[in-house]
Amino acid sequence: MNPDVRSHIRASGPASKILLAIFLAAALLLATGCTISRPANIDWAAPASTGNPPPGDSAIQQVLTSYGQALVDKDRNRFASLLDPASGAFDQQQLNLFDKLKAVPFSRYQITLDSTSQSNPAQETAKVRISYTFSGSFTGLPEPARAAFLLVREKDGWRLSGDATLNTLGKPRDAELWDFGPVTVMKGAHLLVLYHPGNEATARQLIQEGDAAYPRLQQVIPGTSLPLIPVKVFDSKQQIDQAYPGEWQEWTGGAARKLGSTAAQGGEIIIDAALYQEGNSDTPGYNRKMIGHEMTHIATFPYQGSRTPPFLVEGLADYVGGQKASAPIREKLNSGVSFNPTLDDLYQPSGFQVLLSNAAADLAYEEADTAVLYLEQKYGNQKTFDLLRAFQKNSLQGGDQAKLVDGVFRDVLGSSWADFKKGWEDFVLSGSGA
Ligand SMILES: [Zn+2]
Repeated sequence: MNPDVRSHIRASGPASKILLAIFLAAALLLATGCTISRPANIDWAAPASTGNPPPGDSAIQQVLTSYGQALVDKDRNRFASLLDPASGAFDQQQLNLFDKLKAVPFSRYQITLDSTSQSNPAQETAKVRISYTFSGSFTGLPEPARAAFLLVREKDGWRLSGDATLNTLGKPRDAELWDFGPVTVMKGAHLLVLYHPGNEATARQLIQEGDAAYPRLQQVIPGTSLPLIPVKVFDSKQQIDQAYPGEWQEWTGGAARKLGSTAAQGGEIIIDAALYQEGNSDTPGYNRKMIGHEMTHIATFPYQGSRTPPFLVEGLADYVGGQKASAPIREKLNSGVSFNPTLDDLYQPSGFQVLLSNAAADLAYEEADTAVLYLEQKYGNQKTFDLLRAFQKNSLQGGDQAKLVDGVFRDVLGSSWADFKKGWEDFVLSGSGA
């Protein structure tokens, strides 16, 4: 993880804390390639077993399947029947969990058994993988979270009797939104917002802003047709740190997370409600840009490859969000003095990870924003999108990034990289970019 991510601050004063969010989150998405990466832990990192569990475990798999289905069906009696009544605290905690999830529209809640180990003839520990989808949202099950349960054998079958995640896997399960309280759901035309009671105003506003941003997203990324995007609204940064430990070092506002490598798995947006409300008063219009920016990341995840220039991705997200570049980049170009990072630095896949100061981060986004604005104005939505897709197609190609970029620009735009860059510089110097 880049220790300098906190440097992505574009403004001074309280607002800077919030502005950090979009840019920071984006940088980290790029930094990790995929934000579902986990801290190193030998057991945790060990590949999950593949194939079917041994036949003796099928009764345990059945209990796990019923557990998930009861959460989908909102069948509290069935859910309760799967718990060991003698395990009082666990039993109560699970029933509380069920109640907190009452409003959450799971379409699937899948628990897959990885392996079991026996502590005595009447007790097993089951290592599992858990993933879920929401009705109306992305249909592919996300990359699963790993966990472990204790089960006891009773006369008529197995019952869940405890959470063994910490003991078995060496780290506790990451928190979910529902671990911090009951979850309420608000559905817009494009967002499925999950939040705790008390954050209704934030949820309502997210829906308004998300629905308002969608037509522009469709226009900029032709053919965009997204199901409901899940938005998880946490009360605070502290909660987010428990849900995504180590994934974001400094965290504000909102971020998009990729939920898997396929388009069907899609992504989710994470919001800090406290900062969202602060943003409303500090920087009117900020949240609208932020939501448009993060929705663009969700829409473009499937079109990003390992060789995609990050300035394209960030610039597009800011372009949809309506973020305007300001003067610094023009001043830099005008001065004739060399500066860092250059646009060439920002076509490197790691281009946004290596920014070592606030000024460098500011400049990087100015360059990304103006380069995409220039692309959009000169070549239009379709060509700009074609450029993104052409890089994805070439993601497995080896060789020099400079050659690849030049080749793709020539193929798609009929312009060498050098000519494109000259055009961009003239565009910025003319004042068109600001
Ligand atoms: Zn971004």
